[in-house]
Amino acid sequence: MGIEAALSTDTVLTTSLQRVINWARRSSIWPMPFATACCGIELMATASSRYDLARFGAEVMRFSPRQSDLLIVAGRIAIKTLPVLQRIYEQMTEPKWVISMGACASTGGVFDTYATVQGCDQFIPVDVYVPGCPPRPEMLIEAVMAIQRIIDEDNIPPKGPDGKRIPLGIALQPNYATRPQPVGLSVSR
Ligand code: SF4
Repeated sequence: MGIEAALSTDTVLTTSLQRVINWARRSSIWPMPFATACCGIELMATASSRYDLARFGAEVMRFSPRQSDLLIVAGRIAIKTLPVLQRIYEQMTEPKWVISMGACASTGGVFDTYATVQGCDQFIPVDVYVPGCPPRPEMLIEAVMAIQRIIDEDNIPPKGPDGKRIPLGIALQPNYATRPQPVGLSVSR
């Protein structure tokens, strides 16, 4: 890890137990991917070698809610699928966080139809919204880092008087500028 080189082996460090717990917790987030559409491909790219989500300790996708503490909703949610999403959220361990990735998960996107959920935050508490269609992997990494900052600040998700989870509701700002599309291209046959 390199820390042995920076500190001699007989060095004593003191800190609070809570800080150690927060450090361990934020350095080992286990995501539960709920990827239903094209945003899922960007989610896969985020975990792959080019973007390497492992640098943030969050690459262990579990596909098992009882072992996960970060739900990433990536893609549109059909009304029929909604009970499955809710069941997965309820089965995840506490404390747990939720990222809504992309326009479809947050608002239904272009699918303004009776069969599509118009925002998963109507049914589960969302902590970080990631804009884009699809968001780039950098944006998803920024969302994971936002969750890590919350954990570092010991801001364990609060609950209201009724015992229900209060969502943090952090909306990320786009961190890239769109480029103009190429014009004047022709296809040779
Ligand atoms: S936000 Fe865009 S990229 Fe993501 S699932 Fe919806 S249509 Fe696909």
